[in-house]
Amino acid sequence: MQKILNYINGNLIEPHKGEFMDNINPATGKVYSFCPDSTSEDVELAIQAAKAAFPSWSAKSANDRSEILLRLANLIEKNNDKLAEAESIDQGKPFWLAQKGEIPRAKANIHFFATAIEHFASEAHPMGDHAINYTLKTPLGVVSCISPWNLPLYLFTWKIAPALAAGNCVVAKPSEITPMTAFLFSELCIEAGLPAGVLNIVHGLGPKVGPTMTTHPDIKAVSFTGGTKTGAEIARNAAPLFKKLSLELGGKNPNIIFADCDFKKAVAESVRSSFTNQGEICLCGSRIFIERGIYETFKTEFINQTKLLKVGNPLAPDTKVGAIASKVHFEKVLSYIDLAKEEGGTILSGGNSVNVGGEFSEGYFIEPTVIEGLSFDCRTNQEEIFGPVVTLTPFDSEEEVLMMANSTEYGLAATIWTENLTKAHRVSAQIKSGIVWINCWLLRDLRTPFGGVKQSGVGREGGWEALRFFTEQKNVCIKL
Ligand code: NAD
Repeated sequence: MQKILNYINGNLIEPHKGEFMDNINPATGKVYSFCPDSTSEDVELAIQAAKAAFPSWSAKSANDRSEILLRLANLIEKNNDKLAEAESIDQGKPFWLAQKGEIPRAKANIHFFATAIEHFASEAHPMGDHAINYTLKTPLGVVSCISPWNLPLYLFTWKIAPALAAGNCVVAKPSEITPMTAFLFSELCIEAGLPAGVLNIVHGLGPKVGPTMTTHPDIKAVSFTGGTKTGAEIARNAAPLFKKLSLELGGKNPNIIFADCDFKKAVAESVRSSFTNQGEICLCGSRIFIERGIYETFKTEFINQTKLLKVGNPLAPDTKVGAIASKVHFEKVLSYIDLAKEEGGTILSGGNSVNVGGEFSEGYFIEPTVIEGLSFDCRTNQEEIFGPVVTLTPFDSEEEVLMMANSTEYGLAATIWTENLTKAHRVSAQIKSGIVWINCWLLRDLRTPFGGVKQSGVGREGGWEALRFFTEQKNVCIKL
């Protein structure tokens, strides 16, 4: 069975203690490879390799770094289908989704920052004719990048690319639940000629290797995407050490449907924003608020379309909903469906695990689930479920829907459906979230700031924001 290896100082190596964990295919429930169970010794080795590589990597011109990263981007493109298949098997998502969406996006992440760095200029502030300031943006040194299991290579590269492009050396950790594409990526780094130690990938359990990655004196910044609880722990440990922190955390996103929306589009996109990637995208709309006048018609059409989504083998081309990423998460999502019933919700569609049969009979499949009849402030409507589960709630006024939409501790993304432009602007101004989509969902321009407010995170990724995060600014003032 395949052994995933750590990537440290340019080499693919076993963890220091030689220990591995089972890596499970969530569609079959069976072990299909082994993931390093690394310890702080492996992180230490990675940090020392990154430290040694930093002087030469940071001294390279932006153009030289860009060329190496562009080679890496091209290799991702060349290996698109292999990476997509690996992602689908490791994570449970439909193959076509990884093939057409996520792996091309991983390539785009690297390409975007490899080209952006060539345009990342210093500012100058002349003070009349007697002085001039210029602001240098220098790399930080060694930084940590920690990513989750829902969009594995996509989110992994989203952090690594700006860090490396800006001249930092990186110690990175993918989720232990989905380590495979980060491992395949390390092979591509070697093929692309990325100098040894510039990027180091340590696989392992978060609580075991995470603390060294976030508190080590040589780590200058931590870029983390994952759960709010983990983010809080990282902040508790790293903030007193004055490390730069970027935290992209959970969400409980509202999807607001006004009666004057383009009905057909609103229904189709709401089905997509509810169940894409089994609802395991931090941007999925999990609370759908529908203006009362169209509540019943929207509900009927939404359920009709949800029932058409085929649940099954992630590698089959007609599968729309694959497997839930892990057994623990599968049980968590099912427990929330039980909670919704206890809280008085009515299951309109789905609500059960699915036995897909054959080799998938022990896989972690859940029907796309639609629930109504819950109060906006019950736990089902306040806590992140992060699965194929949405609630429908009617509303009567803008004021009411804004109150309900803004009622959670999260504030990552929101979607608004209306053909009234003035209303769209008015409502989006009052929504408390870092991202608002009007009449669309998940339409992304990599130049735009990405991140949340409240407990959805601190800081922004994307565009110049990410390059600013991974650099230190130094102002030099010269008296003329
Ligand atoms: P998680 O917090 O359990 O794990 C995320 C990563 O952190 C993993 O690599 C894990 O090993 C590591 N980790 C765990 N404990 C750690 C510790 N003590 N120190 C350092 N690292 C540690 O999250 P998850 O379950 O993998 O991902 C799901 C969550 O991620 C959801 O809440 C989802 O909303 C969120 N998410 C947010 C965004 C965003 O951009 N805001 C994007 C995707 C996912």
